[in-house]
Amino acid sequence: MNSPAYLWAPPPVYSLPVRGETARMPINRLFFVGRNYHAHAVEMGRPVDKAIERPFYFTKAPSTLVESGSQVAYPPETSDYHYEMELVLAIGASGFRVDPPDAHRLVYGYACGLDMTRRDLQLVARDKGRPWDLGKDFEQSSVVSEIVPMPETVLERGALALTVNGQPRQKSDLQKLIWNVREIICDLSLFYHLQPGDLIFTGTPEGVGPVVAGDRIAGHVEGVGEIALTIGSMTF
Ligand code: MN
Repeated sequence: MNSPAYLWAPPPVYSLPVRGETARMPINRLFFVGRNYHAHAVEMGRPVDKAIERPFYFTKAPSTLVESGSQVAYPPETSDYHYEMELVLAIGASGFRVDPPDAHRLVYGYACGLDMTRRDLQLVARDKGRPWDLGKDFEQSSVVSEIVPMPETVLERGALALTVNGQPRQKSDLQKLIWNVREIICDLSLFYHLQPGDLIFTGTPEGVGPVVAGDRIAGHVEGVGEIALTIGSMTF
């Protein structure tokens, strides 16, 4: 079979390391759940009433992926660059309109993630009814640890925490997710045909805040692993 000729080199296959495997996970799509811990929704001024609301989502391009342990440049056009520590769910099987008793079948494993955010741009967009892309879907904004295989496992509890330069900033537990792993899989699969290699960032707890050049972020999710990121200076 002849491979087609391209005008220039096509983009790479984005991928992440997998614990215990030499093969890497090829990454398909990046989904993010918004406002999925009550205390974070309140700190953002948008409390959630699960009785009358459904979860909502945004996406980022796989090209925004950065591996844990990296240094990233302070991004352009912001003066309020925030961390958000999150549990990341890695999908390993396809599913559409998944029934709750079947949701675990889609789970390949989990990772730690940082949903890095240009908060000033996100809030302007939110308040003007504009898309969130400039605040969320920017270069190097999706930081992920190695993927930890836990096939068909639904995580329901586990401490999650983040420090900046060793100082505690975020601390919560997966039990406090408004929509849990099973509910997220079912709900998101109403809108998309979930596929192997999709990652779902499950939302951040309270305590989000800014970082500046030179800061060192460290986070962990109990039973999953750790994540680290260093902030460099802005590139011109
Ligand atoms: Mn987030």
